[in-house]
Amino acid sequence: MAKYPFPSKRAAIYRDIPDEQWNNWRWQLSHRLNTADEIGQVIPLTESERRALNAPNLFRVDITPYFISLVDPDDPDDPIRKQVIPTDAEMVPFTAMMEDSLAEDRHSPVPGLVHRYPDRVLMLVTTQCASYCRYCTRSRIVGDPSATFSRSEFEMQLEYIRRTPQIRDVLLSGGDPLVLAPKILDEILSRLREIEHIGTRVPVFLPMRVTDELCEMLQKYHPLWMNIHVNTPNEITKELEEACDKLTRAGIPLGNQAVLLAGVNDNVEVQRQLVHDLVRIRVRPYYLYQCDLVEGAGHFRTPVGKGIEIMEGLRGHTSGYAVHQYIIDAPGGGGKIPVMPNYLLSYSDHKVVLRNYEGYITTYEEPVDYLPERAAKFKGEKRPEPGQTGVHGLLQGEQMFIKPEGFDEIHDRHGIQHRLKDEKKWQPLGIGSGLKGNGDE
Ligand code: SF4
Repeated sequence: MAKYPFPSKRAAIYRDIPDEQWNNWRWQLSHRLNTADEIGQVIPLTESERRALNAPNLFRVDITPYFISLVDPDDPDDPIRKQVIPTDAEMVPFTAMMEDSLAEDRHSPVPGLVHRYPDRVLMLVTTQCASYCRYCTRSRIVGDPSATFSRSEFEMQLEYIRRTPQIRDVLLSGGDPLVLAPKILDEILSRLREIEHIGTRVPVFLPMRVTDELCEMLQKYHPLWMNIHVNTPNEITKELEEACDKLTRAGIPLGNQAVLLAGVNDNVEVQRQLVHDLVRIRVRPYYLYQCDLVEGAGHFRTPVGKGIEIMEGLRGHTSGYAVHQYIIDAPGGGGKIPVMPNYLLSYSDHKVVLRNYEGYITTYEEPVDYLPERAAKFKGEKRPEPGQTGVHGLLQGEQMFIKPEGFDEIHDRHGIQHRLKDEKKWQPLGIGSGLKGNGDE
């Protein structure tokens, strides 16, 4: 059981640091730990951790004094320790591992701007973070100051957003936008006029960064939404609670994106405690991500079945707003795919058979007088979604097929154009062009 109020911790080595310093985010950042010797002074390291910390080409290590203080020094399996201290396992390659497993760089029309979905973009505004997660999806650039985006690349990102009217939502991420100098963040926000999201782990690694001044600056730019990144109940402290309180009082709705990690939070009870504690500090559990196929993260991966088991243990067993969505971010750049247990057991033309979390099986009687043509009419302008209407486009009758690339060529078998091949034959009456595939309009 969690203890309320949430705890505030400080490792023994920091006991004598005056509160004004400890609670100063600049002090925390400038006293981050990154070598085996420094970390070893706070917690006894295992041989595996020591070897990894001394390995060449290691993904950057930095841990704030605040965050390392949350580690139980006597527990080599501590879930916070595993998130920020590398072990030998990080060096082990695995099948399907990739440098950029979500193909973000392939979906970047300009450097540092990922345009994957129809109406939203991801803007990478920095490569720096307050501490570095060992499973980071963007370890290819994060932590490397030389990979930071230049002023001219930033201008290119803004220009792309300006000339792409379908974009209505800009996610600021990185790295971590909240480690930027306040003036720079202020400038970025002031130059974006869309809805903005910020993805940040700063409130978790460095809650003292959430100052009144920061909140005052952020609240000038509503509508502004924020997702934080908490993986275990052990990360929920008095300091995080205070930081979230300030942000929500500034009118910023908070969500949480967790990553399912072996040995860290791959347990239904841990997940239940996590979502309950998040709701208690007014953070809505939003996504639970399957761990990406990224270099260095092999030992954190769980089978997808573990995620389904966790969702089975949450949905119905606790409040709906405390249940996050389990997501596989499709390798190769397919975007976020929600995955869940099967609740729809069967259906006929007039009845649907469903089961609930207890295994109770019920039927839902379908209406017999529903007229699709009398569905609500939308009087606004239809949103542009060039080339991405997908499966919904099939349901809307915009097209009848989605064909894999090269489908027509393969099935043509290098044949000749002859008298029986007339494109009009395959034009379905009343449905789009019916002849194009792969999202073409
Ligand atoms: S805070 Fe986010 S971007 Fe930074 S290392 Fe962790 S996962 Fe990567």
